[in-house]
This record gives sequence, structure tokens and C-alpha cells, in this order.
Amino acid sequence: MNIYGYNLDDLENYFLSIGSKKFHAKQLFDWLYNKRIESFSEVTNLSKEVLSKVSSELSINRLKIVEVQKDVDVRKYLFELSDNEHIEAVLMKHDFGNSVCVSSQVGCNMGCHFCESGRRKKVRNLEAYEMVLQILMIEKEFGERISHVVVMGIGEPFDNYDNVMKFFSIINNPFGLAIGARHITVSTCGIVPKIKEFSKFPLQVNLAISLHAPNNELRNKIMPINKAYSLEVLIPALKEYYKKTNRRLTFEYILLKGVNDSLECAEELAKLVKGLNCYINLIPYNETNNIDFQRTNTVQIMKFYDILKKNKVCVTIRREFGGNISAACGQLRSKKEDV
Ligand code: SAH
Repeated sequence: MNIYGYNLDDLENYFLSIGSKKFHAKQLFDWLYNKRIESFSEVTNLSKEVLSKVSSELSINRLKIVEVQKDVDVRKYLFELSDNEHIEAVLMKHDFGNSVCVSSQVGCNMGCHFCESGRRKKVRNLEAYEMVLQILMIEKEFGERISHVVVMGIGEPFDNYDNVMKFFSIINNPFGLAIGARHITVSTCGIVPKIKEFSKFPLQVNLAISLHAPNNELRNKIMPINKAYSLEVLIPALKEYYKKTNRRLTFEYILLKGVNDSLECAEELAKLVKGLNCYINLIPYNETNNIDFQRTNTVQIMKFYDILKKNKVCVTIRREFGGNISAACGQLRSKKEDV
């Protein structure tokens, strides 16, 4: 077990289980997340016996950063995991702070046609510690605090639900990285049973839904998940989620030229989200070498945007980062592994 996969409760239970004191958990958390030790030997306030037990049973190993690509206000990191698999994460510098987009799986099984991440099927889930370490290691390399986290890298977080929730409980803890729940966003392609489960999750983490189409016919064509959970099931589940949590939803909508960017689509989209407390984030498509989709031009994006506005939908157009450095999900890993 890697120590970065333990939340404070786990660590307290661990110390109790080895016949030691619960309060050591907070001390160790402080060493890990504030003093940022890289070896247990740096800990000075635990007895030799306790420390040798901890270091014989738990690992403090980090990930390997194998590549960093830099552009204005953005850095993209390629990590190597202990089993030689690769994942990526992206750091973005905003005026409100620094955000990191983390990966949640190696590969992805959702198979969205426009997305690079699914070109290789899921190899495995990421463990909570592998998500925590993406943040810790980027903070170290970048030299500034990460204030915001989005789970929008490689993988479908709700297909790795328990580890992702554990990850949230670790990075949110005030004795650790103390990243506020409202500064954390998890994005799903729409796995309805997990949306229901997530409505009971105690932290106020934001939910984003990758919608990308305003009707089933179109959504079935580009997102296979829609065949399992159609809009008739997804939208009521989101209404229910809002009723339970009172948290405003975000819809992501990639604009794909000639596919889902017509003005009729915009009207239909406005109708679909009517009555939901939400906002729509329009995403200019990040073109890749491998896939046949093209980005919608700026004029059409603005027309699409205007129709939503006219229908009183809250809408933003996503600021773009990293077009020059293959920062769209899965692109860097695809290059590395040549898939
Ligand atoms: N599986 C989750 C989270 C990862 S994808 C989900 O589907 O939400 C994060 C977002 O990036 C999704 O909205 C996804 O559809 C979008 N995306 C994928 N490829 C993209 C590309 N080439 N350009 C822009 N956005 C892309």
C-alpha cells in the first residue's frame, strides 16, 4: 500500500491497528502534505519502532515524470507508473489560481468517437495515491500551490468511483492539501447509477456532464454510453441530483463541425436543459491527428452561443490552453505509446 492512498481516517485506523496512537496520523499527514517529505527517514516526531513499522509496511514511492511540455500558462506532464504504464495531467494557470486536470484511469472504455483517450481500452483503474501524486508532483515541479482540481484527464472517473472518492477525501482534508470541495470538479460521460450514488457523497464536489449532443439519435452516434443511459434516463437523474444536493451542474458540449453545431442543435439543447440549474460550457474541439472530427469555426461557435443566450441559458466558451502541446486528453500518451 502506498501512503498517499490513505485518507486521515485510514491513517488513524492504521496507527490504532499497529497498537500505536491515533494522533500520529495527523503528524504524518503534516509531514506528507505540508513539509513534503520524500522519505520516512525525514520524520522526526515518531518513535523509531513506529517509524520502522510504517516504513516496512507502507510505500512512499512517487510517480516518475517522464516528460514536461510547456506553453503560455500551461504545462503538460507525462507520468510513468510503477508498472510502466503512462498517464498525463495538465496544469493551467488562471487568474483565480492554478488548476490541474488529472487522469483517473489508464485508457478508457467509454469509446467516445471524438476522444483520443479511448483509443486504447482501459488497462486498469488508477489507485487513489496515483491521483494524489499527480497533484503533489506537479506542485513541486511548478513551484506554486494547486488550488483547483478537475478530473477530466484520461479515463471515466465514475468507472473508478471508489478510488476517485477516496482521492477527493485525501486532497480535501484541511490537515493536508486542503483543496476546497467547491474547487474540485468531476466530469462523467453519464453513468447514471454513479450519478445517483454521487448525490449522497458528503463533500460539495462539483459535477460536470459530458453532453455533446441534444438528442439521443446524435448522442448514440458519438457516445456509446448513451445506448446504456439515454437522455430520458440521464436528465431526470440530474434533476434528482440537483434536488438532493442543490449544486449547480455543468454541461460540457464540444462543438464538432457539421455534427452537433447547427443552430437547430442549439435550440434543441436550450430546450433539453430548461428547468435545470446548470451552465453550459462550449468547448472548441481540439483536433487530433488520428480522428476525423473537425472544430467548428469561431463565427459558428458565436452563433451557437447567441442562441443559448437568447434562450436564457447560462453559457460560457471554454478558454483554450495548450493547443500547441497536444494537451487534449490522451494526446500525449497516444504519441508516447504510438497508438
Ligand atoms: N470521461 C469523463 C472525463 C474525461 S474527458 C467525461 O467523459 O466527462 C473530459 C472532457 O474532454 C470530456 O467532456 C470530453 O468529452 C472532452 N474531450 C475529449 N476529447 C476532446 C478533444 N479532442 N477536444 C476537446 N474536448 C475533448
